Amino acid sequence: MDQQSDSLFSFSERARQLTSSAIREILKVTERPEIISFAGGLPAPEGFPVQAVQAAYDRVLSTAGRNALQYGPTEGYAPLRAWVAEHLSAQGAQVSPAQVLILSGSQQGLDLLGKVLIDPGSKVLVETPSYLGALQSFSLYQPRFKAVPSDEGGLLPQALTPELAADARFLYALPNFQNPTGRTLDLARRHALVQAAARLGLPLVEDDPYGELRYAGEPLPGLLALAGQAGANVVRLGSFSKVLSPGLRLGYLCAAPALIDKLVQAKQATDLHTASLTQMAVYEIVKDGFLAEHMPRVRERYRLQCEYMLQALSEHFPAQASWTVPQGGMFIWVTLPAHIDTTRLLAQAIERGVAFVPGAPFYAGGQAAHNTLRLSFVTVPQEKIRAGVQVLGELIAAYR
Ligand code: PMP
Repeated sequence: MDQQSDSLFSFSERARQLTSSAIREILKVTERPEIISFAGGLPAPEGFPVQAVQAAYDRVLSTAGRNALQYGPTEGYAPLRAWVAEHLSAQGAQVSPAQVLILSGSQQGLDLLGKVLIDPGSKVLVETPSYLGALQSFSLYQPRFKAVPSDEGGLLPQALTPELAADARFLYALPNFQNPTGRTLDLARRHALVQAAARLGLPLVEDDPYGELRYAGEPLPGLLALAGQAGANVVRLGSFSKVLSPGLRLGYLCAAPALIDKLVQAKQATDLHTASLTQMAVYEIVKDGFLAEHMPRVRERYRLQCEYMLQALSEHFPAQASWTVPQGGMFIWVTLPAHIDTTRLLAQAIERGVAFVPGAPFYAGGQAAHNTLRLSFVTVPQEKIRAGVQVLGELIAAYR
């Protein structure tokens, strides 16, 4: 666009603060087929149940085509809401269908939460580092981020002091295989976090798109489940993106009725409702237990990919580098010696045909660690994982 047409528009203050996501910019480069990209956060397409989706759309269109093509309620398709409530209840949370809002991707839930809970200058607590897409969504509403201190085990519940929590609109937490670090909060920390939040009157936003992708260790109850009857301060986000496919753009949110009411108003203003056909087709897929047979295959694929990358890292990365060993999900987080700036390293890596995401953009409300990076291992073929990790290892060893 030329200068003249640019100046035709007076952007809102909100929009003026928007910057393109570091990951999006990198992904543009990594679309080149010769690049080995550990940068994206895409699920493995081999796991997409194309036939099941096709059959479900056919069934819905042939048995309830007119309903599927009609407007629907903002809250979502009732049978799908009931399925979500049951699914979460089976994991120990006490959820009624009325507490479920169907979303056009769980990313929409982050935006809606920002819309109804954040004023300019509101304090929002985040893990450090945290999911970049959430930081972007919340940023549109101009919060003041405050980082909750964490260590290798994720966020530290004892760091949630009354002072830190005072007036915070919520704490955004990712207990399972966190994006970007792959870390999982252990059971003791989950209990402590839920108790601290209840004591401090702090709402918790639990984002769990990766929970079903556990391939090591024992499943742990989520924050909503642990909060039990007292769970009114916990909002839980879930997604079909990593269990079926992200292109469906289907997610859900579970919260106390008063919050659901507000979110429904905000969603109505945003998109009226999530696509009826998609909701009905996905319900058709999941209603008879499809996930129970489908997910083990997806988990096994991810487990092998993860194992392969961990092996390559231990062979090719210098001893001064360290990395997380995820129990599920899609990401490994690497910490390099302090003098290595991974944004500079990325430029060198791209010249050698390898991409990753530098860690700094994932930090908000505290100091960024410029010597960190995120590797995604699920979409790269195994022989390329090895080759790409070897290149990175050489660049790190030679870094000046
Ligand atoms: N939360 C986290 C932590 C994510 O990693 C993602 C996707 N990358 C989302 C939410 C959004 O997922 P979706 O909108 O596809 O449900």
